[in-house]
Amino acid sequence: MGNVKGLKCKECQREFPKEPIHVCEYCFGPLEVDYDYEKISKKITRKSILSGPPSMWRYKDLMPLDEENKVGDHVGFTPLLRAKNLGKILGLNNLYIKNDSVNHPTFSFKDRVVAVAVSKAIELGFDTISCASTGNLANSVAAHSAEAGLKSFIFIPVGLESGKILGTNIYGTNLIAVDGSYDDVNRLCSEIAVNHKWAFVNINIRPYYGDGSRSYGYEIAEQLGWKTPDNVIVPVAGSSLITKIWKAFHEFECLGLLDGKVQSKIFAAQATGCSPVTTAIKNNTDIITPVKPDTIAKSIAIGNPADGYYGVKTTQASGGYGEDVNDEEIVLAMKLLAETEGIFTETAGGVTLGVTKKLVQQGRIKPDETTVICITGNGLKTVEALNGQYNDPIIIKPKLNSFEEIYSNSVTV
Ligand SMILES: *Cc1c(COP(=O)(O)O)cnc(C)c1O
Ligand SMILES: [Zn+2]
Repeated sequence: MGNVKGLKCKECQREFPKEPIHVCEYCFGPLEVDYDYEKISKKITRKSILSGPPSMWRYKDLMPLDEENKVGDHVGFTPLLRAKNLGKILGLNNLYIKNDSVNHPTFSFKDRVVAVAVSKAIELGFDTISCASTGNLANSVAAHSAEAGLKSFIFIPVGLESGKILGTNIYGTNLIAVDGSYDDVNRLCSEIAVNHKWAFVNINIRPYYGDGSRSYGYEIAEQLGWKTPDNVIVPVAGSSLITKIWKAFHEFECLGLLDGKVQSKIFAAQATGCSPVTTAIKNNTDIITPVKPDTIAKSIAIGNPADGYYGVKTTQASGGYGEDVNDEEIVLAMKLLAETEGIFTETAGGVTLGVTKKLVQQGRIKPDETTVICITGNGLKTVEALNGQYNDPIIIKPKLNSFEEIYSNSVTV
């Protein structure tokens, strides 16, 4: 292990030591982990990856840790499945779903970033983990802090779904709801970070945290047979995942692990009620205008995205685009995915699929291209979104004729 040289400013390229810092003190650009790719290229091969564990740690040479991971042994390596039924409906002949709704242990892609962030926080000597979260990060930080035996303080906006709240409390954390939006929570956390020497996974540990999501991109490429797809549709909140998938594909290419070159178009998906990134893409600008979120897709409701500018740049550089869908379209897409592929995703997954449908209709995604839809979270955590969609089940007596009576009247699916 230990393939990290230090941190480096994404804008001015100045170098910094491996510390819990995330902003360049000269130009205020974001800091990124600076890897020793020469060293990595001597170690990593398809064979070394294939002989690794069935988890994100099969790519441990590319993870920003100096020691073995301290938590999250079983995170990642989720299914990439061929979605034939859904593909038929959308008119796509090579459609795949990368399904992190079954990621271990808290059923969202956030387990990837948190497994790295908490491991790094332990390496850096922290005894308390913290975060600002729209829900899934809260679940994962609470779970991994419990696994590590560390204290945690988790800050969320008011009004999150009950599954996200209970799914945080169960791990025995300190959960604090802030009367404001995620962006208010995030700003407050930056202030708390000055007074309390905690590891805020998406603030002072952010450079390391973000790099955990590269594993999602590596897995897509490996599972497609060491190829990258023509199209990837990514749900966007702070814009970390979308930039890291793109980075992951290019790292694989540079390390000689891919057949051919990366020619993937990356598409950003947001909810209409919180679409600062896709709006910028549509307006052909890289200036993000912050918004006040109003959508059922709470997990991706970030009105002032930290990496929004880079999210726009990623879609533009790749030749992709950005689209958004409203709450009604989100629910329809959640139902469509469940009814065609048997996957119950949360609202963010409804956003990704709803946007994919639009992109196909617009002709931006073609029938024979290889397309991957990113499903990043689990539907059992956002059941409120489906309120009023279904009647209560019919109740019958435990008698055969009681069943036959309703059977003769009912329509079967
Ligand atoms: C956090 C999250 C995302 C996107 O996160 P980024 O901040 O853009 O990296 C997507 N889907 C779900 C379900 C999430 O919880
Ligand atoms: Zn700088």
